[in-house]
Amino acid sequence: MSKTDPDLAKMIDEIAQEMRARTDRGRVASYIPELEKVDPAHFGMALVDLDGQVHVGGDADLPFSIQSISKVFTLTLALGRVGDRLWRKVGREPSGNKFNSIVQLEHEQGVPRNPFVNAGAIAVTDEILSGRQPRETLGEILRFLQFLADDETIYIDHEVAASEKRTGFRNAALTNYMKSFGVIENPVEYTLGVYFHHCAIAMSCRQLANAGLFLASDGRHPVRGHSVVSSERARRINALMMTCGHYDGSGEFAYRVGLPGKSGVGGGILAIAPGRASIAVWAPGLDETGNSHLGRVALEELAKRTGWSVFGR
Ligand code: GLU
Repeated sequence: MSKTDPDLAKMIDEIAQEMRARTDRGRVASYIPELEKVDPAHFGMALVDLDGQVHVGGDADLPFSIQSISKVFTLTLALGRVGDRLWRKVGREPSGNKFNSIVQLEHEQGVPRNPFVNAGAIAVTDEILSGRQPRETLGEILRFLQFLADDETIYIDHEVAASEKRTGFRNAALTNYMKSFGVIENPVEYTLGVYFHHCAIAMSCRQLANAGLFLASDGRHPVRGHSVVSSERARRINALMMTCGHYDGSGEFAYRVGLPGKSGVGGGILAIAPGRASIAVWAPGLDETGNSHLGRVALEELAKRTGWSVFGR
């Protein structure tokens, strides 16, 4: 098999079978009680190439809670809305800290390190919310995902959102703290409500891989033809995914996989192979850094077998 023309269908199927057979599955997130109900035996994978061909393996059509993967899409919307002005209220540096760390915020005067740690994503959500009602904002985020994936069945899992709302004291603390620095413009409960609900969007690997395709293709859909963002912005979103997409596990992910990726505590990862494909994996068990264990292993296998990497050929 040549590295430039791999048999992707066979490869995805093989990787899915290998992952399903493994016993090292990590631990399902429990701090959002609703997520703890998910069976760690699941594994799904979908890859969409630039011809729009989809290759799937395992539970690729089962919706799961995308959680922080939604942050890629809220970032895209916020940049579309306010452009570089966004960077006044959120930074672009990797954090090296836990995804919900509060310590760093004090050091940095309430301006979160990057748009993918919780505080940063909440600040991004607040930006999209400004001038609108929470319901309208949520509708906009959901419709954006449905449009990107070309699939209107994508939905918000209200039980997951309610479960996080009941227990999201740390996120409430982060938001109140940013509010005290003037970084949050809207009422804390509105901003948090939208944040919890966009994290609770449920999507399958197939839908997610389709939704991320513009990032693999210079900001435009390679088949449907529409432009989502400029090619420069697509590169920059990919750069942030690479440096910050796995919290304090971002360095390890870059080292092992070598592709931009964004994880969520629901066990999903969206990875982008620029110029080649958009890939989504789902394995609910997490590692110590809160990232999908077998999701990462599967992407490492894919990178190895295809030779795909943004660091060389
Ligand atoms: N909704 C989750 C939280 O705020 C997202 C975290 C994640 O997926 O990493 O805690």
